[in-house]
Amino acid sequence: MDVAKCTLDGSEYSAVKFAKLPPPEIAIKRRHLICIRCSTRAIFVKEARSGQGPHFRARPHVNCPLAAPESEQGEGGGEDKDMLRNPGDHIVLDLRYGAAELVNGDPESGAEGGTRGGRHVGPGGNRQAVSKRRLRPILKNLIFLEEFRRSDQTIELPGFDVFRVHDLFVNFSEVTDAHVGRFKGFWGDIQDIRPGKNKEHWINTGDKEDVSVVIRQDICASFLSYHRIKWSELEGMHFLVFGWLNRGGKNNNKLWIRPEGFEFTAIYDGM
Ligand SMILES: [Zn+2]
Repeated sequence: MDVAKCTLDGSEYSAVKFAKLPPPEIAIKRRHLICIRCSTRAIFVKEARSGQGPHFRARPHVNCPLAAPESEQGEGGGEDKDMLRNPGDHIVLDLRYGAAELVNGDPESGAEGGTRGGRHVGPGGNRQAVSKRRLRPILKNLIFLEEFRRSDQTIELPGFDVFRVHDLFVNFSEVTDAHVGRFKGFWGDIQDIRPGKNKEHWINTGDKEDVSVVIRQDICASFLSYHRIKWSELEGMHFLVFGWLNRGGKNNNKLWIRPEGFEFTAIYDGM
């Protein structure tokens, strides 16, 4: 979208104009943007890796004339579609991609190799095809395919457990108190990034009452190089993170997630 409305000042902004506001003003107003037609919450993207200029996006953004047509949304094919064509498949998440040198020697992930063949899994010894998937195609499927979000497929996070897709993943906007203390694949939009007091970075999904993801100082550098990205480029992106939901800290009720490691995260910058 080229235009969005700020509910704080009641003004409509073009994305180009919004991008030229003083940074402190952007920081406040970006949390209060809506689609001018349907009032869906909008996300401001100042700089995208694709080279696309400043823009707004909203998701889910259905039944709105201002929503981008499905065909322009960069929906993946190939490997992504494959997951739906084979609903019986057991998915094993592959967290090693792009980080081989960093997790080398991990006994947890060493044994299986990259094969996709039949293997006995699940109760009753049902023979299911096992497919290894990286996190990014999983994130794309979550974004674009409701059928996948609701699917009954089994999905395994090596070293953790086997889950059902519809049980494992929770959109940031649907996080509730009931999720506190639970391990999930949380996903959704990144609203903005703020540095913290201890040189950690907070990936915010909305305003204060919404859940945030904390990237502690010790993994900040590896997190950025793993995703080949700058903090500012993350703002407006789609994000997936595996971890436990926590509540609170010093004098607050903040909901937050700390990823097990940078390899437990994925980003996607399609619209
Ligand atoms: Zn709209």
